[in-house]
Amino acid sequence: MTSVTRFAPSPNGLLHVGHALSALIAHDTARASNGRFLLRIEDIDLDRRRPEYISAIYEDLSWLGLTWEEPVLVQSEHFREYLAAADKLIAMGLLYPCFATRTEIAAAADPEQTDPDGAPRYPGLWKGASGEQIGERMAAGDTPALRLNMDAALQALRFRRGDKPLTFIEIDETGRRQTITAQPQRWGDAVIIRKDVPASYHLSVVVDDARQGVTHVTRGQDLLAATDLQRLLQELLDLPEPVYSHHRLIRWADGRKLSKSNHDMGLRALRSEGATAADIRQVIGRA
Ligand code: GLU
Repeated sequence: MTSVTRFAPSPNGLLHVGHALSALIAHDTARASNGRFLLRIEDIDLDRRRPEYISAIYEDLSWLGLTWEEPVLVQSEHFREYLAAADKLIAMGLLYPCFATRTEIAAAADPEQTDPDGAPRYPGLWKGASGEQIGERMAAGDTPALRLNMDAALQALRFRRGDKPLTFIEIDETGRRQTITAQPQRWGDAVIIRKDVPASYHLSVVVDDARQGVTHVTRGQDLLAATDLQRLLQELLDLPEPVYSHHRLIRWADGRKLSKSNHDMGLRALRSEGATAADIRQVIGRA
């Protein structure tokens, strides 16, 4: 099967060797099957996106020897499509407005219950709010986030699929395929449209993976749990199901994560110290 893969960095910092691993796996997977390698700039976080990081992404990937199809999909140019997808979920009665602040959520949440990102599980503050309560806040000029009613979403899923469990196919580095049961419920009533921008990471990813015809999502293991929620959204929105490979993460010897902000193992820094693209492949075990 020819694969369509993508590398989808967020331009809020410089790429490091962990990104190089993601990009090279996606690129090599596509090339090995005579497929297509796509690039997507995930810049819905308008406060953190910086144009110079976008040009740095293109430059660093070219230096690594990668080529990708044009045009590159830039998410901030597609808010309308994310809202259209949210509209479908609204029409199905699966989203509700939430005006709660982070502080209010943290104060009301059960400290034992966190979502897979480690954030407090949303305690349902605005679930079941009356039209009047919502109208009052709208009239005051407040913008709500839109949250997924997880119970209703799971019910809609059962209605469509009966007892057939929600699963995804995970392919490991040796090519072995495994069917994994998705557990979207552990995300609780997740934010689907943020307060500050008309999109969210999970919604934009599923809309764009479908629009770009991505057949094989390759990304780090830190996003494994995200797949649970993304599979649910794909089912609810009638989007095709890609296969997945969540690759190992590159960390410091003491287990610390590489970070963009500290320019840890930054490709630029390594390049200016004389590293070559072949050295990077060697270091990350993809020579
Ligand atoms: N934009 C995400 C990141 O930079 C990756 C999203 C994905 O691959 O699904 O971590």
